[in-house]
Amino acid sequence: MNIIMMGAQGTGKGTVAGILSEKTGWPQISTGDIFRKNLEEKTELGIEAGKYMNAGNLVPDEITVPMVANRLNEEDAKAGFILDGFPRTIAQAEKLDEILKEKNKKIDMVINLTTPREETIERILTRRVCSNQECKATYNLVMHPPKVEGVCDKCGAELVQRKDDSSRESINKRLEIYDTQTAPLVEYYEKKGVLRTEEVSTKVNRLGNDVADDVLRDIKGE
Ligand code: ADP
Ligand code: ZN
Repeated sequence: MNIIMMGAQGTGKGTVAGILSEKTGWPQISTGDIFRKNLEEKTELGIEAGKYMNAGNLVPDEITVPMVANRLNEEDAKAGFILDGFPRTIAQAEKLDEILKEKNKKIDMVINLTTPREETIERILTRRVCSNQECKATYNLVMHPPKVEGVCDKCGAELVQRKDDSSRESINKRLEIYDTQTAPLVEYYEKKGVLRTEEVSTKVNRLGNDVADDVLRDIKGE
């Protein structure tokens, strides 16, 4: 099954995508993670993308779209995939449709996570990530803290704050881009009949793992 995870920064889309990937075997394809890995390894792509990322701007489509197309060509994406962080604009969604059409494929489900804005900002500020790029586990100092402060439960590496999570300016910029450029995708996929909106909020006592459970149940029931 081919799935897209949508949701503003801090809604927990990476967490949901990670659980779904683990349980289904379909790879989680996170454009942000691929960019960060390249940046860490100082590849040409990473250095170029880094110029946009730290300020919270979108990396240009000339870089992003071929990168996703190549990733989707890999063997492990044949049976299904979970896109996390792509597409982020209508233009990217249209490019994705073209890429998939060539392969006789389509998007089967778009999971749109919604969370009150105050809650997402708080979550971004308290988010910590594993510095080991092979692990990339995500924690939250309030909701999901590591067992030992500053240390990843899974691999023991140091936990760090993403550069773009530490500045209010960058967070605001990313949320603004989400609202203006990414949110219109909700209607785009609603029209295609594949949208599934899920509220994730402590207010309704519903978190990412609850959404993942429900989605998994529905996938298996098919
Ligand atoms: P967040 O959703 O918290 O902004 P991500 O890890 O998804 O974090 O992305 C980090 C950065 O990588 C983005 O701010 C942007 O610069 C870049 N990026 C990720 N996905 C895309 C995309 N589809 N198009 C353009 N830039 C992207
Ligand atoms: Zn780790």
